Amino acid sequence: MASKGVWKRCGLMVGLIVCAVAMLNTGLSAADTAPGRDPKQPIDEAYTAKIAKYTTEPYFTSPLVNYLPASKTVPTPEAVLGDVAGAPGILPYSAQVYQYMRMLEKASPRVKVFSIGRTEEGREMIAVAVSSEANLAHLDENRAKLAKLADPRTIHLNDADADKIVDGAVPVYYITGTIHSTETGAPTALMELAYRLAVDDSQYIQDIRNHVITLITPIVEVDGRDRMVDLYKWHLAHPQENYPPLLYWGHYVAHDNNRDAMAMTLKLSQNVLNTFVGWDAQVLHDLHESVPYLYDNTAGDGPFNAWVDPILTNEWEILGWRNVQDMTKFGMPGVFTHGEFDTWSPGYLMFFAALHNGISRLYETFGNGGADTEERTLQPDEYSRTWWRQNPPLQKVLWSQRDNNNYEETGLLTSLHFFSDNRAMFLKNFYLKAKRSVTKPEAEGPAAYVLPANDPRLGAQAELLNVLQLQHCEISRATAAFSVTVPVQKTSDHRKSSGEATGEKGEKKAEATAKTKTVDFPAGSYIIRMDQPYSRIADALLDYQYWSPDDPQKTPYDDTGWTFGELFNVKVVRVTDTKVLDAPMERVTTIAAPSSVSGSGTVFAINNNADTALATLRYKLKDAQIEAAEEPFDADGHKFNRGSFLVHGASGDDLRHAVSDLGLKAYGLGAMPSVKTHPVRAARVAILHTWLSTQTEGWWREALDFMHVPYDYISTQTVAKEPDLNSKYDVILFPPVGRFVSPDLIINGLSTDWGNPLPWKNTPETPNIGKLDSTDDTRPELGWDGVAHLQNFVKHGGVLVTVMDTANLAVALGLTHGVTVARTPREKIIGSVVRADMVDSTSPIAYGYGNQLSVYCFNGPAFDVSNIAGRGGFRRLGPEINGRPTGRGTLSDPDFVVGRQNEAAIEEPKVEPWQAEPVTNQELRNGIGVIPPAYRPRVIFRYADSHDLLVSGLVEGGDEIAQHAAIVDVPMESGHVVLFSNNPIYRGETRGSYSLVLNTILNFDSLNAGRKLDKQ
Ligand SMILES: [Zn+2]
Repeated sequence: MASKGVWKRCGLMVGLIVCAVAMLNTGLSAADTAPGRDPKQPIDEAYTAKIAKYTTEPYFTSPLVNYLPASKTVPTPEAVLGDVAGAPGILPYSAQVYQYMRMLEKASPRVKVFSIGRTEEGREMIAVAVSSEANLAHLDENRAKLAKLADPRTIHLNDADADKIVDGAVPVYYITGTIHSTETGAPTALMELAYRLAVDDSQYIQDIRNHVITLITPIVEVDGRDRMVDLYKWHLAHPQENYPPLLYWGHYVAHDNNRDAMAMTLKLSQNVLNTFVGWDAQVLHDLHESVPYLYDNTAGDGPFNAWVDPILTNEWEILGWRNVQDMTKFGMPGVFTHGEFDTWSPGYLMFFAALHNGISRLYETFGNGGADTEERTLQPDEYSRTWWRQNPPLQKVLWSQRDNNNYEETGLLTSLHFFSDNRAMFLKNFYLKAKRSVTKPEAEGPAAYVLPANDPRLGAQAELLNVLQLQHCEISRATAAFSVTVPVQKTSDHRKSSGEATGEKGEKKAEATAKTKTVDFPAGSYIIRMDQPYSRIADALLDYQYWSPDDPQKTPYDDTGWTFGELFNVKVVRVTDTKVLDAPMERVTTIAAPSSVSGSGTVFAINNNADTALATLRYKLKDAQIEAAEEPFDADGHKFNRGSFLVHGASGDDLRHAVSDLGLKAYGLGAMPSVKTHPVRAARVAILHTWLSTQTEGWWREALDFMHVPYDYISTQTVAKEPDLNSKYDVILFPPVGRFVSPDLIINGLSTDWGNPLPWKNTPETPNIGKLDSTDDTRPELGWDGVAHLQNFVKHGGVLVTVMDTANLAVALGLTHGVTVARTPREKIIGSVVRADMVDSTSPIAYGYGNQLSVYCFNGPAFDVSNIAGRGGFRRLGPEINGRPTGRGTLSDPDFVVGRQNEAAIEEPKVEPWQAEPVTNQELRNGIGVIPPAYRPRVIFRYADSHDLLVSGLVEGGDEIAQHAAIVDVPMESGHVVLFSNNPIYRGETRGSYSLVLNTILNFDSLNAGRKLDKQ
């Protein structure tokens, strides 16, 4: 088509205006096809009348959606819904949506439905392709063409060949709806959109149908959708009553299902990416609802993600502004792009496209969280006119689901049309982005990332590589040892460019001046080559992030750091030396850490490297007796770390069977080594949740399920009713509740003094609700009975694990003698990776860890510890704080007093911020408040010094938390409360710190092991 040639001459954005004029002259531009119905095609009068009826203002619609074309053969959404799409009071279940899509498929050769996988709860996910008969008849041939553009190595990076393919290929525009279950409008909008694309004979729609394959997943979070429809139906059945918030969306997480595009732990992420990549789609356009009336927040605000191709960020602008322009011309208010959302984190579903050479897009439209028509009043920041929102939404309107559907469909249709008109440009860009991904090693670097074969944590290494495989990255393995040159890191830069496990050459002194050094890697090391089409996602996940405290963006939208090597506690070396690509290697498709059982005997030793597989093994070998070594030891020529397992009562065969997939190595020993041990028992574990939010604890359930660690799932209400928790559980995990939940709510819940009960129950009325947990009324929470039961549980030997806000709660409730939380008003650590330093490596909680660990922190509490009950941690006025007091002499001299003999001062004890001050003789006189040594808080990890704290992301005011205790074990009579300032189990990304929790579980009745008590 001639417009392709026009675009080729014009280049990109700079030529946009010139191009528009040129295209007008060619008679083949978007501007030439007027949007709107074909007068020759009859319309469905009744359906069209209802569209008008349910649209609350004439300007909340467009010529693209204010009618529905009639068809004699193809059913409209009314066939399933009983009314039109967007009708008030109608929210279809996934089954109805799928039923309709399959009716379309049956009735029209322009629709095909594909099953793309199942959810955690077994519900189907689908993708619906809509295009011309001819396009759908040649899907395979077209796919073969797109595959060549997607992997330009297949055409030897030949631009002329690419141009030929671009000429004949039909691009794929993938639309995904309702990942967020409370954002309910997309399924009906997409049902109607599919109908329009299949049936409408207007030139505008024909342009799209003939030149684009529109691929639609109407519901991404299917489990959550069905629960939401239940809830909405309950609301319709009880119109006068309040209804509970949607407590569970997906099986594990709620809103965070749109933060899983990095670690890909959820089925919906895997299914959507497999579809996007499987179709070699060009666009992934994800539909959300929160902002009036249509916010194309693809680009949002800075900072942009540093690893995406600038070709893409320009495409965002081209598509976004054109979209705004088209809808502005229709007279639809409140359509804008830019705004406050930053495009830094690649965790959003749409980012699958951004980092797989496609185009990521995201709409926020205005939803009512259901299908009620409601009066909506906006806040000033929502309706004000800004430079990026010249035609803002109105202050107060009556808003319907139909309005929302009008906006969604109009936005999508104008986008599809512009995309179809400019398909050659977008396809060529798709190829160019892939080509630039392949030429990355020479063009921009790095050349590769290497994961050395001698990493002590091969299990975690395999998990990281498995994530990269889920991301469709190619992984190679060195068949022989090789070496590369890497730059020497500055000493102030703690980042692990290469570790002790890699054979660094050269003297330390020489390194101080040398700019590069040679690093050797053993055979078997894994290599992620950057000369592959999906190099960018690997680069984005494995690289480091730096968010400047001076960045103009003061409110990061999500996490600012995520470096996967650090969070998985795995060595990853960024290599810019292109020689790495010449190393002898082979592509690998299956990756598993090697397991082995060698030797024989009555006892087998398994080293502890903080591998999560140890916990899996403990629960797998139910009947075996397992001991943990309390000190490192040597046996049969092998070195074993503290915490290593000594397994009795399992045969070599049983063990071999148990470790086969776990990446563990068991060594049969002639005899039990002479090292102090304690039993490692399969603790009875509960995960405790509130009825306020199940978002963040969901990641803990996901992780324990993933590791096959069994647990009971209980609520604060269970705890409130159960006085003898010890009879059921050894360990209660109380994961973070959420950023905005107060202790008041966790204890008191929502008042039952007014309003109606808010049930979360499985009933015929709500068949999809109440299966994970249920209650007649979600309003009550822990209550003071629950607090007392938790305290009792700990006093009688239970272990309570608390994290971030629940740790703050434990401290505030007085469950932890000698711990306070320091005020940190300047702390601004927004989802960053920070460094923690080991304080007490003899604690079982620390088993298998090295001296430093990177952890995930979101404004974590800064714990202070004290040996005096009720006293906060504080620091003496001493030289290391404010210098010496005013007086005679120099900084290092003592002061003196006139008129008397000046004795040399007794040296004050040096106390670090993570330590408790030693108890003084003064305090021991009638020492009522002195905590006996065995009951004092034991600090396991502390935050690193201020200059070492930042690993990845944003750290501002870091001095307020630096050096403070980060993980504290507080004995309480026979039990323990363990406090985490970091979140050790989060979004599937922090697998390197999972074992902090698993160690606590496995050693629940021996947490005092290795403890050295203060003398007084
Ligand atoms: Zn959303």
